[in-house]
Amino acid sequence: MFADTHCHLDFEGFSGRLEGLKGAMTEECLAMVVVPSVAVSNWNKIVDLCDKDERFFYALGLHPYFIEDHKISDVLALEEKMSVLSAIKEAGLVAVGEIGLDATQPDIDKQLKLFEMQLGLAQKYKLPVIVHVRKLHSLVISTLKKFSLVGGVVHAFSGSYELMMSYINLGFKIGVGPVITWGASNKTRAALVKAPVSSLVLETDAPDMFVAGIDKSQASPLDVMRVFSVLNEMRPESRCDLMEHLWANSLHLFNKSAGSVKNLKSTGN
Ligand code: ZN
Repeated sequence: MFADTHCHLDFEGFSGRLEGLKGAMTEECLAMVVVPSVAVSNWNKIVDLCDKDERFFYALGLHPYFIEDHKISDVLALEEKMSVLSAIKEAGLVAVGEIGLDATQPDIDKQLKLFEMQLGLAQKYKLPVIVHVRKLHSLVISTLKKFSLVGGVVHAFSGSYELMMSYINLGFKIGVGPVITWGASNKTRAALVKAPVSSLVLETDAPDMFVAGIDKSQASPLDVMRVFSVLNEMRPESRCDLMEHLWANSLHLFNKSAGSVKNLKSTGN
């Protein structure tokens, strides 16, 4: 079984393609897709979309890239939504995200405030976090250390072995995405070769990211297969062994138990 731990299925790039993708997911044994949200405006759309398919799960949060759209009071709305959804065992809420810090966007003070408030919610509701970070790794790491979280993932990781290990030592998983399919990612590849296998999960970040060799308009959660193949070529584990580890890591990250894949939504938590 495969999981795409980060895919924006609600984005425009998927309009008209979802039904076809659902069928292809069955053929490819893609049994779990986690859809992170970016702002208040897409929470309801994501919840509706994920309620319609037992393989779709979601994270709710305020993405730092859209900092100018967020109000501090949005965190109150987030808490309200989470308190309702976390009480429903069959709901697909599996994480807070995506949240973090992005140096390419303005107002780092506001970004940090929202990040800390949302980490507080993750701690309170015992939910893992999906972290987006651009350039501000040391500030993200020192902020994460202030909370006692059940876990999380650094999405679309790219960086050195030392940087990767500082997240792993905090109990975080490392999101391995399309970046490894592109030639110029030597530092990241070198880090991932040496990573503890228990720390790795797959993701596509489609439709924003895409794997080498395809047209961007075709980016989809099925691209995890390509990311997996490239990772498999680099890693010492057999194909089967690596696949099993990655699947188990994904379930562990989102607090789901293996049991029956069909009933993932009612397991864990
Ligand atoms: Zn994303």
